[in-house]
Amino acid sequence: MNARHSTIDLPERIGGLAGLATNLFWSWDRDARRLFRTIDPQLWHITWHNPLELLRRVSPERLAALAQDPGFLELYDRVMERLDALDSGAGSWFSSRYPDLAGRSVAYFCAEFAFHNSVPIYSGGLGVLAGDHCKAASDLGVPLVAVGLLYTRGYFDQLVDVEGRQHDVDEVLERGITPLTPVLSENGDPFLTKVWLCGRWVHVGVWKLAVGRAAVHLLDTDLEINHPEDRQLSHRLYASGADVRLRQEWVLGVAGVRVLRALGVAPDVWHANEGHAGFMLIERLRELVAGGASFEQAVDKVRASSLFTTHTPVPAGHDVFAHQDLDRCVGGVWEELGISRERFLALGRPPGEDGNRFHMTTMVLRLCGRVNGVSLKHRDVSRSLWRGLWPGREPSEVPIGYVTNGVHVASWMAYPIKLLLDRHLGAGWEEELEDPELIGRIAELDDAALWEVHLQLKVQLLDFVREDAARRWRHHWNADARHLAGGGALLHSRPLTIGFARRFTSYKRADLIFRDAERLRRILVDPVRPVQIIFAGKAHPADEPGKAILQRVYRYARDPAFEGRIAFLEDYELHLAHRLVQGVDLWLNLPRPPMEACGTSGMKAALNGVPQISTADGWWAEGYDGSNGWLIADPPDGGDLDAAHAEQLYRLLENQVVPEFYDLDHAGIPATWVRRMKRAMQRALERFTARRMVREYVERYYAPAMRCEPLEDPPPSG
Ligand SMILES: *Cc1c(COP(=O)(O)O)cnc(C)c1O
Repeated sequence: MNARHSTIDLPERIGGLAGLATNLFWSWDRDARRLFRTIDPQLWHITWHNPLELLRRVSPERLAALAQDPGFLELYDRVMERLDALDSGAGSWFSSRYPDLAGRSVAYFCAEFAFHNSVPIYSGGLGVLAGDHCKAASDLGVPLVAVGLLYTRGYFDQLVDVEGRQHDVDEVLERGITPLTPVLSENGDPFLTKVWLCGRWVHVGVWKLAVGRAAVHLLDTDLEINHPEDRQLSHRLYASGADVRLRQEWVLGVAGVRVLRALGVAPDVWHANEGHAGFMLIERLRELVAGGASFEQAVDKVRASSLFTTHTPVPAGHDVFAHQDLDRCVGGVWEELGISRERFLALGRPPGEDGNRFHMTTMVLRLCGRVNGVSLKHRDVSRSLWRGLWPGREPSEVPIGYVTNGVHVASWMAYPIKLLLDRHLGAGWEEELEDPELIGRIAELDDAALWEVHLQLKVQLLDFVREDAARRWRHHWNADARHLAGGGALLHSRPLTIGFARRFTSYKRADLIFRDAERLRRILVDPVRPVQIIFAGKAHPADEPGKAILQRVYRYARDPAFEGRIAFLEDYELHLAHRLVQGVDLWLNLPRPPMEACGTSGMKAALNGVPQISTADGWWAEGYDGSNGWLIADPPDGGDLDAAHAEQLYRLLENQVVPEFYDLDHAGIPATWVRRMKRAMQRALERFTARRMVREYVERYYAPAMRCEPLEDPPPSG
């Protein structure tokens, strides 16, 4: 244990708790969670499930007693055995399936990761996906090291005032109570490497985070030795200002490679997620040229060992830098690559353009031999979007493949649902998701048992919402409207409860359901078959249209005409996401096609038997099978998409969704609805888990790259 964690004094018999608390493995291992909860249930609750803080605050007497408690010790030993088994990696899917690739590894680069509340270094879907990727890689024994940035001010905490205006509050990361471990250099310096940026050295420190078997390295420039401006590079995720973004991305890419080198990690495959990570390719070119290769040879080598995953077709997701910013910040790097400035800048020039834009995705597409989108539909959208790079080819011939995203079952499935499946399918079913016969047995799950578990989760959610609304109301005692909008008047367990939670940005259309507000009102306040909706989500601080949508939704939430049936919950993050996807009856998803690359919250809901109603975009285009939810189809003639989608949404709610939900059998169970719940679960477990996703990454990309299999297609022009 390093110095920082040794402040925790533990009896020797249970000394391993400190190590367990610093491996996020505990966050998805039920027994490990139970172990910490047993130490002090109240403290566990108060610390928001933060084991390090718990261990620091619990009394020595309590710990001494536990060290003598046979029941506790038995659980402790079981968990420690599993933790130790992680290190050996023996018997994993990867090691038995790919014995020839022992010792190989993958470097996974991403600008954000969502693992747990105590490490708030993500903004949304991409981060959650990257986190789930690492967890599933650990489960499968895929050797993965991840590289990202530490943000000491995280993304932001959201406060919404009574007018619905979002206020962005700094979310300060307290490194001491996170499971982060500082990595010091051999001579004890707090930095492992440095990069030349805008005319001075920026020193880069590293924090290590253990996520099961996966090691995550988070880069930090907030060090005393650095210029104040450079220290700020580690403050905020997706900072505003292209100049700051450029420098952050340079740190992520260039320092990321150097840190792995300093630690003696030699990955065989390099996986760039979004263009943000793209400078990692430049640094590897530089290394090869410094080692004597020509630029062309270096490009061939880098292409052969690099995979690029594009995660969005939305233009804001693709960084563009001005040539003069590159000159100023990283000017001269081309000399180290043995090429001219012109040739370097051409790497980032979109086809057909001659301006002074350096487009990160374009550069990355030219330097990665393997490229994928994140759903079948997104593959096709990406092929059309980037086909200019492969002149003369039909979209179907553009060498972009796909791996549909998935979610980590152990992290997202509610425990009572898991127990139900344990009883029905037998323990260990999580490792046999590939067996369609086994998963097919979900259809025979007992209706009453599933419905009862669902209601229990729903009541938990609604209790939580109302307690939270009451708490906020006490803080702002003068604002009854806030209490109303915060869900203080939601009905109890009976009404059909719809969830909508995601980033607030235009294409996600949180306000589409209000297009005909009067029609919606009639659906919600129906005295016999009431319906209620819970919204949550943040808008990016610079996204004014997104904030305006949020304000619009909020105003409906506080409008008494809706009788409290609409709630807006502040500060959507992992914890709230868990409660929502596990506790609502129906998940609503309204992206404007074709802007949603995949979307994952609907998959999380489906794992918990919550069907989705969605437009045919992202994963739903391949996920909907006619029986696991509802589809809001695109109008055949083009036309006004918003109007057509809204009309269909109302019609589905009025004619199918609400009647089906309230169609109870003699035992009081909505049997047809419950059948749909099971279909949703079954389909999600078959096709939309992170386990399936990571297996496909290995099969389609990692293993072929490790085996140096030839690339299918000639390099794009450029
Ligand atoms: C899953 C998740 C997301 C992504 O949801 P989408 O459906 O892809 O929009 C965003 N934020 C949090 C906190 C999540 O858990």
